[in-house]
Amino acid sequence: MAGEPQPDCLFCKIVAGEIPATVVRKTDRTLAFRDIAPKAPVHVLVVPHAHYPNAASLAEAEPDVAGELLAEAGRVAADEGVEDYRLIFNTGAGAGQTVFHAHVHVLGGTSMTERMV
Ligand code: 5GP
Repeated sequence: MAGEPQPDCLFCKIVAGEIPATVVRKTDRTLAFRDIAPKAPVHVLVVPHAHYPNAASLAEAEPDVAGELLAEAGRVAADEGVEDYRLIFNTGAGAGQTVFHAHVHVLGGTSMTERMV
């Protein structure tokens, strides 16, 4: 069924607490944790508890949760003290997606005006 946990999904396991992560925010429907290989001083991933392969499929199925994901991304930035930040949704392997559970990257804490991602 759409949104159900997938046994081989890394982020489903982090949501379930089966794999440790440094959690910075948690709601009934989302989880925010630090990226294991940070690309900026602030690099947090916000994921829905429900499993969808990418952000667009989450938004199609559960638009309210997709909205909450964005709101939580903003709260992460505020909590981390960054006013300027970048949100990234990689979609598809060719775009650099490596974990096929919807997530948004929150990147900040450094100037990113020279960077494409
Ligand atoms: P993607 O490339 O799919 O947009 O982003 C996946 C992100 O997950 C990458 O930035 C990668 O560093 C991060 N990541 C991969 N494995 C783990 C892990 O076990 N724990 C955490 N916290 N992040 C991970």
